[in-house]
Amino acid sequence: MRILITGGAGFLGSHLGDALLGEGNNVVCVDNLLTGRATNLRHLQNEPRFEFYDHDIREPFDFGHVDYIFAFASAASPQDYMEWGIETLLTGSIGIQNCLELARKYNAKFLLASTSECYGDPLIHPQKESYWGHVNPIGPRSVYDEAKRFAEALTMAYHRYRKVDTRIVRIFNTYGPRLKLNDGRVISNFMKQALRGEDITVYGAGSQTRSFCYVSDEIEGILSLARSDEHEPTNIGNPQEFTILECAHSVLQIAGAKSKIIHAPLPVDDPKQRCPDITKAKARLGWEPKIGLEDGLRLSLEWFSAEVRREELLTMVT
Ligand code: UDP
Repeated sequence: MRILITGGAGFLGSHLGDALLGEGNNVVCVDNLLTGRATNLRHLQNEPRFEFYDHDIREPFDFGHVDYIFAFASAASPQDYMEWGIETLLTGSIGIQNCLELARKYNAKFLLASTSECYGDPLIHPQKESYWGHVNPIGPRSVYDEAKRFAEALTMAYHRYRKVDTRIVRIFNTYGPRLKLNDGRVISNFMKQALRGEDITVYGAGSQTRSFCYVSDEIEGILSLARSDEHEPTNIGNPQEFTILECAHSVLQIAGAKSKIIHAPLPVDDPKQRCPDITKAKARLGWEPKIGLEDGLRLSLEWFSAEVRREELLTMVT
């Protein structure tokens, strides 16, 4: 197949590209490199089955016939989407419409990367796909949450009214190699701080929870969904839930660091709990994650260490 990945230079998009190339497909990557990085694709420089287009999906595009579209272009870390608020809203609306129109034109299958943020600060725990969520539509996170909720509505509308063959994955917190060191997310911040011997910044008391999925598990789940005929949203994440304080201790242990834990203010509308109910993914896709947090952190350590060393070298030469 010739497969298009928008956001193909990003953390998840680039891993997805590797997996699809590994299966023998041709991969077309579209990315404007706003938050994605060309270095995530460097190893594909001489890969004849790989094409890269530097393009912003808010502008219509067509790089030839494709059989499948994976719509992964979006700022995704709270720090990034709050910096690029309007771009994030328009990427999730006009950008996704451009992708859906392309899917319609080529009769291509379509998979939308959606998010656990659709559940907001959830009042139901763990979160099942049938839960409608508890989202602040005008708060600082709304630029991302409402972009993704609109993208889901648009995807379902193209499925119902225009007969596009669509799927929607709700992605929960995912981590692993290629996560940007400075994107402000919890795992990257804690790893960076631990490896540099700096204080670990836990926001609030650290009693809020998240459920962390290692990237290879996430990609396997997404690909199982892509191959299925499930059109309604499906949670793909790891249901093992940790408080942020527990997460800080795990990072310290894996990194062998002695950093002190300090507390900083809790961001506005920071969800108090997040945990996927993956009953549907297990039953319909036969998928469940295999890698627990400590093993995943161990697998990510080399990446974060290399990134910290790279930054140190850069500061030395500049
Ligand atoms: N967090 C933290 N310290 C940090 C970065 C994040 O305590 O240096 C907390 C943040 O307040 C949130 C959780 O970790 O409760 C996950 O944050 P992240 O930005 O990774 O993603 P989110 O799940 O909030 O979108």
